[in-house]
Amino acid sequence: MDDLATYAENTWCPGCGNFGILNAFKKAVRRLEDEGVQRRDIAITAGIGCHAKIFDYLDLSGFYSIHGRSMATAQGMKLANPRLKVVAFAGDGDAYGEGIAHMVFAAKRNADITVIVHNNGIYGLTTGQYTPTSKKGFRGPSTPEGSVEEPFSPLALMLSAGATFAGRGYPGRLDHLADVLARAISHEGFSVVDVLQPCVSFNNTYERYNASVVEIDETPGSFEDAYRLACEFDRLAIGVLWQTEKPVYHKELLQGKVPVEERQSTGQRRQAIAALLQP
Ligand code: SF4
Repeated sequence: MDDLATYAENTWCPGCGNFGILNAFKKAVRRLEDEGVQRRDIAITAGIGCHAKIFDYLDLSGFYSIHGRSMATAQGMKLANPRLKVVAFAGDGDAYGEGIAHMVFAAKRNADITVIVHNNGIYGLTTGQYTPTSKKGFRGPSTPEGSVEEPFSPLALMLSAGATFAGRGYPGRLDHLADVLARAISHEGFSVVDVLQPCVSFNNTYERYNASVVEIDETPGSFEDAYRLACEFDRLAIGVLWQTEKPVYHKELLQGKVPVEERQSTGQRRQAIAALLQP
């Protein structure tokens, strides 16, 4: 029985890479449960776009966010209750366009959240406009003559910003993706998994990815090697490209406090504000 499923009807296009992400994530959740994580301690959030429907298809607690803001929402959830494992789903336009500042600062401060980016190289829900990861020359409704911009490497950017875990996965290698997702969620600190997600309707990349993804057995031993791998476009390394340890934001900031358990009543907050305003 799929006890992670919901009542919601799935409206992704048949063949969409999002199905693989959903199934890999469910596998990752089950593995984490086997390792002792309670399901009630996993909380999710999502932005806006085709990716975000995953929120409706998972029977997990969470908070539906808005475009480009699931990373900020996830940080708020983590700060309110640091005992949660918080996962933010985002699209590539969502995370690397609209929400890029949230990504950079979450990585910089080593916020203990996991961001899973459904990177399909387009805005799928609005019929295929180009995004920061679209290839140069991509033709879509907003670039009918072909995009004149070069894409950037999201993982190279995240590494530069200070991400302590950077992974890449592909729904066509489902068990491998599930493993990368489980390791990302287990990591203490900011983890990002860039998922190469084919969009069969507007950017069908199955053939290209099937020919170019390469599983890496070991995480590179140096930052420079990880960065180099993240920048390669012809050969796409999938796996954990980088993992390191650094102090995490909520521990530095909260010093062991659990705000959700130490909430003050409205009256107590008023009194505290009144005391602050005393001359
Ligand atoms: Fe998937 Fe693309 Fe269809 Fe959206 S438009 S559901 S990303 S195949």
